[in-house]
Amino acid sequence: MPTSASRKLVILDRDGVINVDSDAFIKSPDEWVAIPGSLEAIARLNQHGYRVAVATNQSGIGRGLFDMAALNAMHVKMQKAVAAAGGRIDAVFFCPHTADDNCECRKPQPGMLKAIAERFEIEPSVTPVVGDSLRDLQAGAALGFPTHLVLTGKGKGTLAAGGLPEGTKIHNDLKSFALDFLSEEHE
Ligand SMILES: [Mg+2]
Ligand SMILES: [Zn+2]
Repeated sequence: MPTSASRKLVILDRDGVINVDSDAFIKSPDEWVAIPGSLEAIARLNQHGYRVAVATNQSGIGRGLFDMAALNAMHVKMQKAVAAAGGRIDAVFFCPHTADDNCECRKPQPGMLKAIAERFEIEPSVTPVVGDSLRDLQAGAALGFPTHLVLTGKGKGTLAAGGLPEGTKIHNDLKSFALDFLSEEHE
């Protein structure tokens, strides 16, 4: 059965996938800088009928490094940048907790992806999850999402460390993920 257009969704991690990551956390809109090609990749996915959702761990909130107003301001900047490239992000799910909180949303826990699947009424088996960290992929694999590693952000280190979920596909960056994924779709 073909996937209906409205159920076509791609789930992205944020830091290290859409924007440049930092070990010191991305704490303000000024620190939020897109990875070259990532905004155009989102637009290209949209043009092919895919909605895009983001699932991002933001423990900087739980650690007190930045507040909700700063996170919202970052996401306003992100949405504007994506819109300027002709694309749209339909939802941003974030986990504000730290590892000590033992929540169900902080990846590798699959809570955010479960919530996204319910919100968008999508089938995990045909919905790619794209991340640069093992925990992004583990969260996806736990629910049966196909997993895709990009080598931006922490991606090269993640690849070197090994232990990727079975079947994980590897792409240089989000732009090459979009090209690879969309060309496979038409095979
Ligand atoms: Mg990341
Ligand atoms: Zn959480």
